[in-house]
Amino acid sequence: MNLKQLKKSERDWKRKHTYRQARLRVARAANHRERIDHWTKLRDEASWYLRRRRQQIREHTATPPIVTSAQLGLKFQYVFGTKGRVVRGAWHYTAGGRRANRKALIDEMRSDHAYHISKGWGGGSYEAMIADDGTIGFLNPMARKSAGVAGHNSGLVNICCPGTTGDRLSDAQKRSVRWLRDNWHTTKVPRAYRLPRSARSLSWRGHNEYPGNPTGCPGAMLADYKRTWTS
Ligand SMILES: [Zn+2]
Repeated sequence: MNLKQLKKSERDWKRKHTYRQARLRVARAANHRERIDHWTKLRDEASWYLRRRRQQIREHTATPPIVTSAQLGLKFQYVFGTKGRVVRGAWHYTAGGRRANRKALIDEMRSDHAYHISKGWGGGSYEAMIADDGTIGFLNPMARKSAGVAGHNSGLVNICCPGTTGDRLSDAQKRSVRWLRDNWHTTKVPRAYRLPRSARSLSWRGHNEYPGNPTGCPGAMLADYKRTWTS
């Protein structure tokens, strides 16, 4: 269920709750015991659904924990120059192990950065990496062109969830992917990593859907990325 549907459902249950409160008052005033039990049960049910919807809405909109390459002291060289106008996005995996949390994600950010420096590419390639628990690591600064997708790096941003063939996105990763889709261009993201326009307005593909990139990346996560992006 997407945010819009959740909010609509909350409004529906709020209406039911209000209606059932009123009916309960009527039943109490008339002192009809069996009706009172009936309406108490219905009111409690409506309250429970309301609470659940509010919790789900909170989960949908809460800002995930964030860590940035600047906080880690990582330095980048603009080997390929600046990114230019951002027009497209790519979804990736790392072809390695999953990363459970912030600490493991930081290790992955550091090693991706070191690997790309060793290749002479000036630093980490992904703009955003996401741990299993939903923590977002902002790695490559938004202004810098990286080596994410061969032949398509101008105007490209990259999201990467660590993992390999057969791995799927966790629920927390899906929430963070959605959060990026909706909030990456807002002041909730530190300026150096902020998208100049909404992520939703870019053209998104899996790494191996870009012509001339015969890689396994992003494996079975591709279906999850696509479904998450449109839900
Ligand atoms: Zn990739």
